[in-house]
Amino acid sequence: MNMSEHSQKYHVVVIGAGSTGAAVAHDLALRGFKVTVLERGEIASGTTGRNHCLLHSGGRYCVKDQESAVECIEENMILRKIMPEAMELNGGLFVAVNDEDMAYKQSFIEGCEATGIPYKELNASEARRREPYLSEKTLGAVWVPDGVFEPMRMCMSFLASAKQNGAMVRPYVEVTGLQVEDQRVVAVEVWDRISGEESVIHADLVVNAAGPWAGMITDMAGVDVPVVATPGVMVSMTGRYCQLVVNRLNVSSDGDIVVPQRETSIIGTSSWTVEDADYIEMPEDHIQMMYDRGSEMMPILREVEPRGIFAVARPLIGRIGEDEREIARTFKCFDHADRDGVEGFVTIAGGKTTTARAMAEGTVDVVCAKLDLEIPCATKETQLLSYRAYYTI
Ligand SMILES: Cc1cc2nc3c(=O)[nH]c(=O)nc-3n(C[C@H](O)[C@H](O)[C@H](O)COP(=O)(O)OP(=O)(O)OC[C@H]3O[C@@H](n4cnc5c(N)ncnc54)[C@H](O)[C@@H]3O)c2cc1C
Repeated sequence: MNMSEHSQKYHVVVIGAGSTGAAVAHDLALRGFKVTVLERGEIASGTTGRNHCLLHSGGRYCVKDQESAVECIEENMILRKIMPEAMELNGGLFVAVNDEDMAYKQSFIEGCEATGIPYKELNASEARRREPYLSEKTLGAVWVPDGVFEPMRMCMSFLASAKQNGAMVRPYVEVTGLQVEDQRVVAVEVWDRISGEESVIHADLVVNAAGPWAGMITDMAGVDVPVVATPGVMVSMTGRYCQLVVNRLNVSSDGDIVVPQRETSIIGTSSWTVEDADYIEMPEDHIQMMYDRGSEMMPILREVEPRGIFAVARPLIGRIGEDEREIARTFKCFDHADRDGVEGFVTIAGGKTTTARAMAEGTVDVVCAKLDLEIPCATKETQLLSYRAYYTI
């Protein structure tokens, strides 16, 4: 079968309206499916709304995880075209503040070249002219096309475009169960958190985009998925002390990034695993590490007041007990028919907000293949509606 009008007869339920679910809903609706998005809270109220909001250039992964680096730079270039309103295209610096960082520079540049990340070397005085709050110990820097996104606007743009193509978006509706008949997911049980009503929604196919809660959804169908909730601590400082994103010129590690977000500077992050993404206890030493490591690049961060300290969990593909920094930052779509013998159910996990569009493309390709449809993805070329349209469509 090869005609997009056939997709209209299929109702796909997407669980979760973070960057992944929002992008999946847009792609599905654009390919003609009937779509309902169910989100237990507000749009982007999970991990997406509380990360540092770096539009990755891929620089953080270009040496150790080149697959993720390539995904990042490709998606960075696409997102800046299709949703310019949700982006601040300020660029980023990878900054060396000691000899070890300088020794890493050559590998970093080779990594940029191997993965297609544009870069420019700056000497110490050029770097400090761009960013006067950089440490006096700065020895040099490399410029890359990092940026900053506004996560709520991003999700609302995806969802406004999905709504324009017929999707229904239902925030504050929690999925409480999946109905499985003859080894096939046929419906979702929901609780409307505003009206208090419980109901059942028929689905031809369910896409689980519940981020670090993905395992709770797969439990409802009696299957398992290797998604591990991997939190990180971030400290938001009052005041904006850099215009560009400031990264440490080292293998991606803890406390090595400062992202300017409007009038704040967010120092991030750390990484460990938890069983339950709803209850994350922040280790004191991780918070201290943000101040210590962040101020090595920008000493002023030691002198100013924190505005907020928070943690959220990545939905990474792996298992509890694995070394979190070694888990690749790429993504995977699990077809539970292949994996577990349960039809009508797929889970998308891993990745980043920066790669949400590509994650959606991969997921909807799987959905189409399952339904024997050949409908090409058009999200790379499709300009998204303004986030403002979310409320008016
Ligand atoms: C510390 C940290 C920093 C990061 N920084 C960056 C960064 O700078 N740049 C970047 O690109 N990426 C970053 N990431 C990664 C990025 O945040 C995540 O990969 C991305 O947000 C995951 O999106 P998601 O939609 O899959 O998950 P989520 O945003 O968590 O969305 C899942 C949604 O599912 C909903 N849900 C859960 N259970 C149910 C249910 N039963 N019924 C209905 N809805 C349900 C949740 O409420 C939630 O809104 C960071 C991650 C962390 C942890």
